Amino acid sequence: MSLSISFDNSYAQELTGLYLPWQGQEWPDPQVLVLNETLATALGLDPDALRSPEGVGMLSGHALPDTARPLAQAYAGHQFGGFSAQLGDGRAILLGEVVDPHGARWDLHLKGSGRTPFARGGDGRAVLGPVLREYLISEAMAALGVPTTRTLAACTTGDRVLRQFGMEPGAVLARIASSHIRVGTFQYFAARGEKDKLSLLLEYAIARHDPDLTGVEDAALRFLERVGQRQAKLVAQWMGLGFIHGVMNTDNSTISGETIDYGPCAFMDRYDPAVVFSSIDQMGRYAYGNQPTIMLWNLARLAEALLGLIDPHEERAIALASPVIEAARETYQQEWLAVFAHKLGLAQVDAALIEDMHTLWQGQDVDFTSFFRALPSALRGDAGPVSALFKDASGLEAWLSRYRSALADPDAAADALEARNPVYIPRNHLVEEALEAASARGDMAPFHALLERVQNPYRAVAGMEHFARPAPADAAAIVTYC
Ligand code: AMP
Ligand code: MG
Ligand code: MG
Repeated sequence: MSLSISFDNSYAQELTGLYLPWQGQEWPDPQVLVLNETLATALGLDPDALRSPEGVGMLSGHALPDTARPLAQAYAGHQFGGFSAQLGDGRAILLGEVVDPHGARWDLHLKGSGRTPFARGGDGRAVLGPVLREYLISEAMAALGVPTTRTLAACTTGDRVLRQFGMEPGAVLARIASSHIRVGTFQYFAARGEKDKLSLLLEYAIARHDPDLTGVEDAALRFLERVGQRQAKLVAQWMGLGFIHGVMNTDNSTISGETIDYGPCAFMDRYDPAVVFSSIDQMGRYAYGNQPTIMLWNLARLAEALLGLIDPHEERAIALASPVIEAARETYQQEWLAVFAHKLGLAQVDAALIEDMHTLWQGQDVDFTSFFRALPSALRGDAGPVSALFKDASGLEAWLSRYRSALADPDAAADALEARNPVYIPRNHLVEEALEAASARGDMAPFHALLERVQNPYRAVAGMEHFARPAPADAAAIVTYC
């Protein structure tokens, strides 16, 4: 089976000067370890061809088809609040774009393909554990209906890479995204005062994501508005799943509204707005409860980068951009309520009921995901399972009775809840077990078992109860690394 893949290269062709042409590194023994066959097929790619030597060459980055014009993208970014004028793809390359059978355009991008001129002190590498975490979590997010990059494949390179805890297997992640344009991509050219390149980027981004804004007079402002709406909806979805991105730097914030760059991310187990899992987030900047604020902060950084294109007079541009950010804040509030109303099966938003539910959880160590899967039983008459999730359930009955009376048909709502709230999420302790088995022992069975569950998140399967359970109370606190 030979690999016939014809890349489109609009980024390479239209944005000269916004990237550096760059190749992947050669590896001792590249192998496809996991291939997302469903995704490959949806993209119009032949899974067998992707497993062939040519396919492996492409997915690991060292031997590309003739039609690829691989490149490293330039971008800047605010990292934990501080501006870095020069980040860029330090260990990644964009191979090109695949146009799927429906005409949709997808970047095919490799992470861990070797050092690039943007690598600074980095080794250009990725290791197996984090690559498999990105695989699991991005596929879980996709199955949960959250806009996200998708993982096409995880390859091993055949060599080992030095990391915090010793030598680990080298790996390359192949992922797709509707684009890899970040808030930081705009910041890079704005910070350098390269207004022509900034305009070019805006024009390209609009053509790709908001084509109806092409040629519109206040396109920069309208584009900012679209990004704000997408980001507000995205973060509301994260909040509804207890997802914590972990590194919401502006270089990890897309203008497409897709979740990107799964580093030290995690799903919250016990409800706690201050919860952080990332080893690098010492100050809790990217804690669960801070994500909406940071989303708006990042949007304000995009606004800053676009000011000169919004209006030549800075004060006028600021006066125009400010209400757009305010509108994103309002959209977020509405979406957050809509997300929880949907999770609860409410026909109408009941803000007090939703807010009081969050208050009810405070200090109770309630497992966020289990709560919504225990509610159906309460609606059918047995509040025992939900009550058991609380340390002190004394406030629960009053809230439940308000909840029941907000529902027209509690039985129908119980069924809806089971269809809308996941029973399986990539729980931290299970993810860690799967990564450890793969990296330390080459045992992929736990990874595949967990992947199967999180790709089918809503349907409870007999015998799979342990995938739905929180970590044992005495389990060590999980810390995630990139
Ligand atoms: P991240 O924290 O993964 O979003 O990456 C932030 C920046 O650091 C990006 O410019 C990455 O390309 C770069 N980077 C991260 N890890 C490495 C590495 N091992 N080698 C080179 N660059 C890296
Ligand atoms: Mg990143
Ligand atoms: Mg990263």
